[in-house]
Amino acid sequence: MSALTVKNLSVVYQTRKELVKALTGVSFEIEKGSALGLWGHSGCGKSTIIKSILALPMDEPGWVEGEASFEGKPIAPDVNNYVDLSNRDVIRKNAVGFYRNHRKLVAPHLKQSFRTIFQEPIYSFEADRYIGLQIRQVFTHIANGDQSLASKLLDEFAISIEQLDLTLDYIDRRRNLQLSGGECQRIALAMSIVGTPKLLLADEPTTALDRKTREVANDMLIEKMRVAGMTMLVASHNRLELMRLVEKVIVLCKGVVVEKFTKEWLVDKPSDMFHPYTRKLWFAVDEKANILPGELQPTDSTFSSGCPFYSECSIAANDKSLKQLCQHSQPNFVSAGEGHEVACHLFNTTNNATDGV
Ligand code: SF4
Repeated sequence: MSALTVKNLSVVYQTRKELVKALTGVSFEIEKGSALGLWGHSGCGKSTIIKSILALPMDEPGWVEGEASFEGKPIAPDVNNYVDLSNRDVIRKNAVGFYRNHRKLVAPHLKQSFRTIFQEPIYSFEADRYIGLQIRQVFTHIANGDQSLASKLLDEFAISIEQLDLTLDYIDRRRNLQLSGGECQRIALAMSIVGTPKLLLADEPTTALDRKTREVANDMLIEKMRVAGMTMLVASHNRLELMRLVEKVIVLCKGVVVEKFTKEWLVDKPSDMFHPYTRKLWFAVDEKANILPGELQPTDSTFSSGCPFYSECSIAANDKSLKQLCQHSQPNFVSAGEGHEVACHLFNTTNNATDGV
């Protein structure tokens, strides 16, 4: 049975300058006790998916359309302020802070079951208070005021954080700016699995960790899934991390899913990736030590109806017959093998993997 279900999620932001279509019709399901990876460069919509699922405030006002449910129940049942995303005039006219205060709309019975790891966790803590105090406050909140349960959660945290080479005593004596990015990441990670949540939404969960600590952290997450049935959505630009953590991957280009496959396809070679954008991702990861160029930010041009990779695709640029099709029509998904689907006109017409990106 599916634990997390996301259907047709679309998001549009109103920035000071323009409208930005950040997500378009994203759908996926995750089975209980397993993990799905969101793979893409910085700015492709991975974090927006996580925030939208939880109806959290975004950096810019905007609109959400679509559904997210956990174990069959809507996550934010009272969110009904949707507008017609196909009508740009309506969107402009209604430019208000849609996300403001939406946190309270997440169904109360689900709040205790969910955890998140956000990027740059240093900003998840208040600057002027000791981290230890803040952690205890969070555990008291999770335990709904039950001090004995809060104390058990703290003990569990102390064990996890020691596995990640920090101690509670060290943390107790520091404020956030006295910790490094890697230390904050380790604290956020250990906090996220305390009490074994049903669902963990993890945005670049091991960024800023050295290789050895990353291995330990990944093992801890895997154990929570296998032994305790935790379900996980992992946003990452790091192919190697996804290979370790997830069973399935969806690839996002400018907020559009362009390829999806089971993790076996990630293991061997870039030629197993069929979409030209996914191949670009593969080489960016391998050649640049897992740091991707961020040049593909979504812009107003993402309102075009064609392939999201059109403006960067050298194959379309050099093929007159494909060019028109790619510019004006978004490709449908076709099967590319067992557990593998791709949305690219080239693959649609030739049924072959593409050469060169
Ligand atoms: S060939 Fe066309 S559909 Fe395929 S990635 Fe390039 S632009 Fe997109």
